[in-house]
Amino acid sequence: MTQETSSAEPEADAQETAVETARRQLERAAAHLDVDPGIVERLKHPDKVHQVSVPLKRDSGETEIYTGFRAQHDSVRGPFKGGLRYHPEVSADECIGLSMWMSWKCAVMDLPFGGGKGGIVVNPKDLSNEEKERLTRRFAEEMRDFVGPMKDIPAPDMGTDPQTMAWFMDAYSMQEGETQPGVVTGKPPVIGGSYGREESPGHSVAIITREAIDYYGWDIEDTTVAVQGFGSVGANAARSLDDWGATVVAVSDVNGAIYDPDGLDTKDVQGHDERPGMVSGYDAPKKLGNSELLELDVDILIPAAIGNVLTADNANDVQARMIVEGANGPTTTAAGVIFEGNDIPVIPDILANAGGVTVSYFEWLQDINRRQWSLERVNDELETEMLKAWSAVRREFESRDVTWREAAYIVALSRVAEAHEARGLWP
Ligand code: GLU
Repeated sequence: MTQETSSAEPEADAQETAVETARRQLERAAAHLDVDPGIVERLKHPDKVHQVSVPLKRDSGETEIYTGFRAQHDSVRGPFKGGLRYHPEVSADECIGLSMWMSWKCAVMDLPFGGGKGGIVVNPKDLSNEEKERLTRRFAEEMRDFVGPMKDIPAPDMGTDPQTMAWFMDAYSMQEGETQPGVVTGKPPVIGGSYGREESPGHSVAIITREAIDYYGWDIEDTTVAVQGFGSVGANAARSLDDWGATVVAVSDVNGAIYDPDGLDTKDVQGHDERPGMVSGYDAPKKLGNSELLELDVDILIPAAIGNVLTADNANDVQARMIVEGANGPTTTAAGVIFEGNDIPVIPDILANAGGVTVSYFEWLQDINRRQWSLERVNDELETEMLKAWSAVRREFESRDVTWREAAYIVALSRVAEAHEARGLWP
């Protein structure tokens, strides 16, 4: 497992692991704060990393073994919280890095959770629906001792969705002998899921983009936007910004990008999760490669697909005036340094896409209280929480000579460190 790393070193940065990026970001933020170095050291390491073997009987009758992980970073402020991803590149290091980001994301939103992240090393596209169900149920069983509504609460992430959460919740509940909706969030509303949860990460990206546009004194009506990744996060962000007057000129999926300088009809383009493969197949004035989308001359670039897409190799070619991170960890450390030098503000993932975990928190409250909120209430409260977090981050940004990412980390780290100070180190 990757151990200590120090400040930004551009070499091989496209291979920078999530845990390396996360540790570097933590060090940069800690340098601005008077935090006990012992606490910073603790926060560089996860509390626990679970690894499980998940046997699956394939439809063919053969048995295969898959590897699953759950990294639990820090629980000083409450139960671990974060997604489960099904992806061939899931690894212990990746889960640790992503679980660290969840700790900061929950803290920046002031939610009573710590960070967790897990997943299975699998390409879900290679499995039938029945195989996915069996794999998920067995994974839930393997994780039963260390998840729970007051311990660690998974949610959807790359390659998982509300149905995955429903199977997980059912498997856990059957074994516990009672219905426990609060063991996961992002469930279908009919079994205790929250209205508005699916749209929430993209919706929060749009809210934060709107606030940032306002902060820089731009007019949303004159703003052009390119979105990499037209799945749940990218599509919902693009559609809200389109509704509010921005011109979304380019969107993409894994196969390529579509471009219309006059603005795409974001409701007509079907999202990757609505109809896979339809984005790049859409009849648009121009087709582009995915890397060309990142280098378009637009006001705002929203990378909303996967991690490490903005690296030392392409950062100097980015012409956008601002970047808002929809995906988790799209910018490597070295790319972040280049953007800082080129005066391109980067609004970080832990703030921009935090609407997902915020509505997960609302879902958890609804599950505990056994009372569902209306979509209107969810969206109102999400707006309130996003604006509160934005103000806290903006205050730090304005009062110190820091990047937006550092400002968000300063807010998050102060809250986590204060909780560690108060609770102390036992024994
Ligand atoms: N996977 C989402 C994220 O990265 C949501 C986590 C959650 O709702 O717990 O923020």
